[in-house]
Amino acid sequence: FSPWMDPDAVPFIRFENVTKRFGDFVAVDNLTLNIYEREFFSLLGPSGCGKTTLMRMLAGFEQPTSGRILLQGKDLAGTPPYKRPTNMMFQSYALFPHMTVEKNIAFGLEQDNLPKGEIEARVQEMLKLVKLESFAKRKPNQLSGGQRQRVALARSLAKRPKVLLLDEPLGALDRKLREETQFELMDIQTKLGLTFLIVTHDQEEAMTVSDRIAVMDKGILVQVATPAEIYEAPNSRYVADFIGDINILEGKVASKEAGINGELVKVDCEGVTIAVDQSCDATVGDSVAFAIRPEKVRITTSKPEEATTNALHGEVWDIGYLGDFSIFIVKLDDGRMFRAAQANVSRLVDRPITFGDIVWLSWPADAGLVLTR
Ligand code: ATP
Repeated sequence: FSPWMDPDAVPFIRFENVTKRFGDFVAVDNLTLNIYEREFFSLLGPSGCGKTTLMRMLAGFEQPTSGRILLQGKDLAGTPPYKRPTNMMFQSYALFPHMTVEKNIAFGLEQDNLPKGEIEARVQEMLKLVKLESFAKRKPNQLSGGQRQRVALARSLAKRPKVLLLDEPLGALDRKLREETQFELMDIQTKLGLTFLIVTHDQEEAMTVSDRIAVMDKGILVQVATPAEIYEAPNSRYVADFIGDINILEGKVASKEAGINGELVKVDCEGVTIAVDQSCDATVGDSVAFAIRPEKVRITTSKPEEATTNALHGEVWDIGYLGDFSIFIVKLDDGRMFRAAQANVSRLVDRPITFGDIVWLSWPADAGLVLTR
């Protein structure tokens, strides 16, 4: 499933040069973005970066200051929220406390004057979908947080929107429930064949549920890509740093020669030279950053073999035990800190590396990245 790879595919939703100002403040800055039918798409970024504003414009609660929003090629300007094929589910869920679960789900359908039989059928269908059949007669305060979240989802889906907009839908749930619910959401989205647009500041959530992610910073779209691309090939220091854990060293391009994957770029990072094999548009002398994920860094107490391109030397300063992984924070000989992650499978076999150990950190040239912005 990757319609965005097809140059002829018509986007389901298109934001075209959309800008939104509140007075002098630019909340969304000349943003262009295509979202395709049946995509599970996430808007990801820190608080205040404009995610919700973008979603509210799609729903019709806000108007763009300039630019257009198109649905299947048709400009949505002038279409009021209730006539748009979108439905928005809020973080607060906004359930009616005095109504039962089934009444909450039926509410929007009654407002639309659907026939009684049709309403009953849809409510039953929705209860089944979110696995709350036996909770139909309960009121919201007799439900757990996760169950309330599912009622809100059922209510949003009952109107059969083509696009469901979810604003931090799982924010109120604890970690375990949130993870379970993420899979339920994905399952429901696939079953119904809908387009889901989710706003979140939780990178793990975005990575888990999304077909693609748009990373935003101060109203600007920084990168739009699949979770794997965002993680493996972030296009900037901002994205690299925002998603997951990463080591970043600032430096300058010292030389470039032919490599195996692209070019072998040598980056001079204040005294250490690091080799990276990738295609790179920076030229010699440019300021760049070298970046590498901790799990790509090997940590050993013996010196790595000569063939290993990159090796740094230091002392284990701190260790975080995460169950499946341990994170080693190593103070390099020059005082800088560097992180390496190691799977804990061989813990009982190997002598575990411990505080104060003198270690080598090493990695092949194709494990790191050169970031030019
Ligand atoms: P969060 O994750 O905290 O919800 P967000 O990325 O969704 O953040 P938005 O709610 O889109 O951010 O807000 C973007 C910026 O626009 C913020 O700085 C916010 O203060 C500002 N903003 C949003 N709505 C209004 C408004 N009606 N009037 C003035 N400023 C607004």
